[in-house]
Amino acid sequence: MVELFILWFIQIRTYKRDSVMIFISKYMIPKGYTGLTLFPFIFLKHRKLLKDVILLNHERIHLKQQLEMLVLPFYMFYVSEFLIRLGYYQNWKKAYRNISFEREAYTNQSNLEYLKVRPFWAFLKYLRNHDI
Ligand SMILES: [Zn+2]
Repeated sequence: MVELFILWFIQIRTYKRDSVMIFISKYMIPKGYTGLTLFPFIFLKHRKLLKDVILLNHERIHLKQQLEMLVLPFYMFYVSEFLIRLGYYQNWKKAYRNISFEREAYTNQSNLEYLKVRPFWAFLKYLRNHDI
């Protein structure tokens, strides 16, 4: 177990982009995903993803969502909404994509100016009628 942890730890590389700390570790990211955000950090699966400005923008939108919900409530809300949508869609990927936080992030990830104009708690408008 200790050896596993050390192995995991030395696999992590750290980068900084516009004052956001980004970790690269293929073991941190669940299968089928390329990045995840745990405030105040972004985790990416591979170093080459640092060049993916759309993915980074997506994760930055999550950073903003997490910050404005004071972090912990974000995760509770996120998981609850996922479970409700999983019951509704009966499909893991569809449930994930339709979480309001993900709808907001996927809808606006290509707009690199989005975070400059985004209203407070903007994810709320994605709770309804935005099936992806
Ligand atoms: Zn996301």
